[in-house]
Amino acid sequence: MKILVIEDEKKISDFVCSGLTERGFDVEACDNGNSGFELARRGGHDVIVLDLMLPGRDGLSVLRGLREEGVPTPVILLTARNELGDRIEGLNLGADDYLAKPFYVEELAARIQALLRRLSGERQNVVQVGPFKLDRITREVTSRGRTIELTPREFALVEYLMRSAGRVLTRTQILEHVWGYDFDPNTNVVDACIQRIRRKIESIDAGAQADSPIESVRGVGYRFRQLP
Ligand code: CA
Repeated sequence: MKILVIEDEKKISDFVCSGLTERGFDVEACDNGNSGFELARRGGHDVIVLDLMLPGRDGLSVLRGLREEGVPTPVILLTARNELGDRIEGLNLGADDYLAKPFYVEELAARIQALLRRLSGERQNVVQVGPFKLDRITREVTSRGRTIELTPREFALVEYLMRSAGRVLTRTQILEHVWGYDFDPNTNVVDACIQRIRRKIESIDAGAQADSPIESVRGVGYRFRQLP
């Protein structure tokens, strides 16, 4: 697995690179947004780890440029604690995940592995998260064998959430992915649809789950819990 690390802070870059190398990744490092962009667009990386504050092009500009050119390499953003707005914009621009500094390299390695598993899982027809099982051939979602009756739109939303289990999706990402058209950003269709799905899950699964499997992440969006 080849990882491109674009991070200008030498201390962080060094511990990330040595930590990932120790875990068997093939790491290429770069400390500048301009050369990072050039390396990334040349391709050949399985994952890009991208810092937001960089000399030259900043991380969001690198990400936007890559997605505009159709470079599909998955991106994990490194963000500071106070960069919530940038984090959301990054997810909306097509980042796949983010990690807030400070972090342990174990966590970054785990996120990279989860991302790669998720991407390879996107070609599979059956998705299982805890007791929830989604079959895209029969278009059926079940929990402990009991069917949850969903409309096509609700099914598409549950599929998107389950395939991204453990990861926060913003309302904009959900709208673009599930509704697929330009929308009024103030619309509440996503929230309304989530509420309907939660009620349907509760009605067949009453008492089985203390909390809804679909978690609201305040100010960001929604996440399907990684259930055991
Ligand atoms: Ca930086």
